Amino acid sequence: MSKAALVVFSGGQDSTTCLFWAMKNFDKVEAITFNYNQRHKQEIECATNIAQEWNIPHMVIDMSLLNQLAPNALTRSDIEIKTGENGQLPTTFVDGRNLLFLSFAAVVAKQKGISHIVTGVCETDFSGYPDCRDVFVKSLNVTLNLAMDYRFIIDTPLMWIDKADTWELADQLGRLEYVQQHTLTCYNGIIGAGCGECPACKLRSAGLKKYLEKKEATQ
Ligand SMILES: [Zn+2]
Repeated sequence: MSKAALVVFSGGQDSTTCLFWAMKNFDKVEAITFNYNQRHKQEIECATNIAQEWNIPHMVIDMSLLNQLAPNALTRSDIEIKTGENGQLPTTFVDGRNLLFLSFAAVVAKQKGISHIVTGVCETDFSGYPDCRDVFVKSLNVTLNLAMDYRFIIDTPLMWIDKADTWELADQLGRLEYVQQHTLTCYNGIIGAGCGECPACKLRSAGLKKYLEKKEATQ
């Protein structure tokens, strides 16, 4: 029996690495992207282009209601991007985002007869997002199984690794350069190396530097 997976896919470093991870571990891979009026429509284009390039069946779901529910810095340019300080959540946090994304992904996966859902959430670089935690994902997994009387398995290959290890994983999968050049993590919408200034770019480049230094040292 062929094993299939549905990847929650944004076209960023993490979910693109997950896409390649899934392509290695499953016979059949599909991707789902959520359009919630991100500041940069490049994100949707980027995800669509990557999926096309690798012949991955790709669905873009309209989730603009998310911004209606919870205006946030990812969708509204009048809200400044700030990292969380003094125990506050960062302004890029969107209440319920992963809850909704994973739940919608599960509905789609079941219709396609797919039981594995792959997501790039990570507890290690925990930016203060409660719905990126392992305990949340496990709890939701149980809830989804009960809600739809179906045996979902939510795979989180990045849960316990940091950004440097995520680059290492991309490298092990033979896709380091591809991820470097074709993915979009930057909050200013610049594909590849990004703007270099925003928190996402800083995290991404610090991780890459750390990994490349480690690689250098072990060679
Ligand atoms: Zn940036």
